[in-house]
Amino acid sequence: MTSILLVAERDEQGEINQSTLQAIAAANGLLDAVVTVAISGEAPASASALAVEKIVTLAVVSIADEGIYDQATAEISALVESTSPEVVIFSKSDFGSIVGARLAFRSDSAFAADCIEISNDGGDGVSVTRPVYGGSALAEFEIASKPAIVTLRAGSYEAGNETGSPSIEAFDSGASVEQAASVTGTVAEARDGVRLEDANFVVSGGRGLGGPEPFSVLTDLANALGGAVGASRAACDAGWIDHSHQVGLTGKSVSPDVYIAVGISGASQHMAGCSSSRAIVAINKDADSNIFKEARFGIVGDWEKVLPSFLATVRELKA
Ligand SMILES: Cc1cc2nc3c(=O)[nH]c(=O)nc-3n(C[C@H](O)[C@H](O)[C@H](O)COP(=O)(O)OP(=O)(O)OC[C@H]3O[C@@H](n4cnc5c(N)ncnc54)[C@H](O)[C@@H]3O)c2cc1C
Repeated sequence: MTSILLVAERDEQGEINQSTLQAIAAANGLLDAVVTVAISGEAPASASALAVEKIVTLAVVSIADEGIYDQATAEISALVESTSPEVVIFSKSDFGSIVGARLAFRSDSAFAADCIEISNDGGDGVSVTRPVYGGSALAEFEIASKPAIVTLRAGSYEAGNETGSPSIEAFDSGASVEQAASVTGTVAEARDGVRLEDANFVVSGGRGLGGPEPFSVLTDLANALGGAVGASRAACDAGWIDHSHQVGLTGKSVSPDVYIAVGISGASQHMAGCSSSRAIVAINKDADSNIFKEARFGIVGDWEKVLPSFLATVRELKA
């Protein structure tokens, strides 16, 4: 029997977000598992429609905004002590990466970041798969220490459709937390449409675009596909698009169905953020560019010539 603690996060509407629903699908896929989902604040409306196949409890923990990291670490630590899970699953988000690492330090456990698969054989312990060497290879780790603390890359699993109603229990450790850091303010990311990490289609632009204006063509293509716009670090560093769009080692990790890379060379640090996409489509004028080694489909050509007809064809097919 594998006992799992899954730490939920919310979207802007306060509902359980897509990354958490995907993590729930991962937990439901583990053999002989019993899942507790921890969420801060009031239980959201969507709690009654969770994929509850293996979820027995929704633990509502009290974490104030200003104590988001210290208090969350303390509360989740206490929940780990009371539920003795073999695995604690976080989303690969700022919150999951920070609190997950702190929890691993506190509990002297292994921390496996940015995993794309979690499996078990029905006994204690789990194996995880994570991209290594900038996404050029996948490594499988068996985690012996308990609990294994894991962050899961968005898009690695599809959210399930099953619904049900787990029992909802309040959890309060009663611990007084000394805050080493506090959040002094938050800035909501400006965004139209779907979140980059949740998009099924991502259209990313690089230095080969030559300036900020072409990103409007990429936005048109992303909108036509119902997707989101990404970028290489070179394009973000040049100030052509905000850093919140950066994909890669020091940016966001995405796993869309289709990742369209336009004017991007395919440096390992970029591929680290998109190599788990189901299909990569590259548009690049240099046939020797590394991106073509990673792409399932490639167009060798100048984006200025290729992209307008690509967009027109997508619109035609959609119509
Ligand atoms: C510690 C570290 C962390 C990093 N983190 C990241 C990260 O998170 N994300 C990231 O992206 N990078 C990251 N980098 C930078 C990375 O190494 C590359 O420098 C960067 O990804 C290059 O961006 P690019 O592909 O847009 O530019 P370039 O490598 O300059 O490639 C531009 C491409 O555009 C093509 N091109 C030019 N003109 C056209 C045209 N008209 N039509 C079609 N194609 C054209 C060229 O053939 C070329 O292949 C990191 C680097 C370090 C050292």
